[in-house]
Amino acid sequence: MEVVTTRAQLRDSRTRFGALGLVPTMGYLHDGHLSLVRRAKAECGAAAVSIFVNPTQFGPGEDLSTYPRDLGRDLALLEEAGAELVWTPTVEDVYPPGFATHVDVAGPAQVLEGARRPGHFRGVATVVTILLNAVTPTRAYFGQKDAQQTVVLRRVVADLALPVDVVVAPTVREPDGLAMSSRNTYLDAPARAAAPVLHQALLAAAHAWAAGEGDADRLRALMTDTLAAQPLAEADYVSVADPDTLTELDTIDPRRGALASLAVRFGSTRLIDNEILPPRTGP
Ligand code: AMP
Repeated sequence: MEVVTTRAQLRDSRTRFGALGLVPTMGYLHDGHLSLVRRAKAECGAAAVSIFVNPTQFGPGEDLSTYPRDLGRDLALLEEAGAELVWTPTVEDVYPPGFATHVDVAGPAQVLEGARRPGHFRGVATVVTILLNAVTPTRAYFGQKDAQQTVVLRRVVADLALPVDVVVAPTVREPDGLAMSSRNTYLDAPARAAAPVLHQALLAAAHAWAAGEGDADRLRALMTDTLAAQPLAEADYVSVADPDTLTELDTIDPRRGALASLAVRFGSTRLIDNEILPPRTGP
């Protein structure tokens, strides 16, 4: 496994690989990240991982300074998972002096997380564009856990004609249903015990959809009611939206399905999760 920092080192290492799958991360790796690494390696023959806590995607008052970091542990996990190349750039390696170019996405980047975290997707779209251009992977791997991010990044790759295939892999969960996240480490014991309520709320909506409910308001109400039964959970939003545009729906088109998603606070910790409500086939 090669570990490189500067863009020049990266360029030199990259010449030693043909097809390459890239997994962009902010580090503090868990099985969700590692599932992407294994898939990248299996599908492309070699896996590259970037570890970079990207300052431009954090808003003022968010958790940039406290975001968990443990590079030694991350590198050991990546070695074990069989990654070939790890890029651990500094802020200056990603954003050189005089940096002045940003990728701004309209449409699906403006709602949900984008509406509550102004500038977040501008930071994400900009850094991922830089990572893709610097690493030149054949495919880039992202988790369904961050559903809106995958929609926004597919848009960026299509709109800017970036020569890479975007692959989205399923959310990896703890045994009690909580989606793995580096931010789960912020939860104290009572909040951790309460946190599976996100998945429970999403499952309530998914089961109702599977049973024939297509009224988006009723599905949102099911999620809101499930969250309201957990006193430590404070709902930020619940959404049933079009899977591509992410606009809120009244009635779900059975041929398109929908994305059910939510954001919930436990004290100062904010968690997100989602479930795809798949298109209904059949008569
Ligand atoms: P992050 O380090 O949080 O920026 O995440 C890096 C990548 O891992 C993103 O594409 C995430 O969507 C993905 N990811 C994070 N958590 C999970 C999870 N529980 N299951 C699958 N992918 C995940």
